[in-house]
Amino acid sequence: MFSSSGYDAHESVTFFSDAASGLRGVVAIHSTRLGPAFGGCRAWFYDNDEAALQDALRLSRGMSYKNAVAGLPLGGGKAVIIRKPGETVTPAQFEAFGRIVEQLGGRYITAEDVGVSMSDMIHVARSTAHVGGLPQAGQAAGGDPSPKTAYGVYCGILAAIQARLSTRSFSGLKIAVQGLGSVGRNLCERLHAAGAELVVADINAAACEAAQQRFGARVVPVGEILFQAVDVVAPCALGGILNAQTIPRIRAPIIAGGANNQLATAEDGQRLHDRHVLYAPDYVINAGGIICAAAEYLRTGSEDQVWARVARIEQTLAGVFLESVSTDTPPHLVADALALQRLSPAPRASSPAKGLAA
Ligand code: NAD
Repeated sequence: MFSSSGYDAHESVTFFSDAASGLRGVVAIHSTRLGPAFGGCRAWFYDNDEAALQDALRLSRGMSYKNAVAGLPLGGGKAVIIRKPGETVTPAQFEAFGRIVEQLGGRYITAEDVGVSMSDMIHVARSTAHVGGLPQAGQAAGGDPSPKTAYGVYCGILAAIQARLSTRSFSGLKIAVQGLGSVGRNLCERLHAAGAELVVADINAAACEAAQQRFGARVVPVGEILFQAVDVVAPCALGGILNAQTIPRIRAPIIAGGANNQLATAEDGQRLHDRHVLYAPDYVINAGGIICAAAEYLRTGSEDQVWARVARIEQTLAGVFLESVSTDTPPHLVADALALQRLSPAPRASSPAKGLAA
């Protein structure tokens, strides 16, 4: 465990199981240095338990960095529920998951992620108050975080095309979107409205067909979407897709999308930089959802204020790109440095020297 690749001085890792409902999973709390660890719950199919653990470790570390760069008073954590092939997660299992979250006493706050919806969170909320991403009440912030995530990605792509293509217009730009789930679909909607030409892929054929009909998108095979001759590739499915095998085949000058953990390893960020592909660090560009869920949970803003906060992702990324160019440092390292600066303990005030008092 302590020598595993995903371990990064995590504060705690909880393996949970609920015999009555058959629920199994992991909650990883990476850091509570800036506040309680906030991060979604993913329900996914894993080849083995080790893969589920590694996913929780990597995702929770990403949440610490994401929350720090977004300026939120929150730490980083993440939960994974291990799904069995052919089975969905039942309301009883989500309720049991809520009891696990409750037992952590507020050190971890949950919300939805891949494979988990807002209606699932309602079941979780039956057993714990430490939950975000619940249906919106009036003008207060809240609800499904995905539209906010997609808006943040849209704003981030704007920063990227400004930095690399010297334009702020999407008109006529070709953008490839990998994954047409909650984030990918919302992103396509915005990009289409702004005049972009879309190329899409998803393992779900119905989602591709819908994108073809609604946005006039060109559908390509799942294995080809990253390698399209487009202006921007926007990964919005799962992580680890930018690696030693895929990077040499990428033709787009920009990669900017909502998926978590897009880089398989830190070296892959350097590989992209060496190939002059501008990479928008995932945890910076996809912070819109957590900005919204945080405002809901902490009651720190209205819906309008949340949209305005999400829009600031453009500015943050523009700063990251600027520093990347001026120091010839890959953007993911610029972002990591920013996160670590905020995560590292403040230097202790030096105690007054003895004997100086009158
Ligand atoms: P989702 O489950 O709604 O959608 C994921 C989509 O990806 C599905 O349509 C699925 O069929 C598709 N997919 C899976 N494997 C694929 C493959 N190999 N090729 C193409 N498509 C594939 O999930 P989501 O909420 O849209 O999240 C997408 C990504 O964004 C995830 O990495 C998630 O962690 C990240 N993210 C989401 C949010 C949010 O607010 N939902 C916030 C931050 C980050």
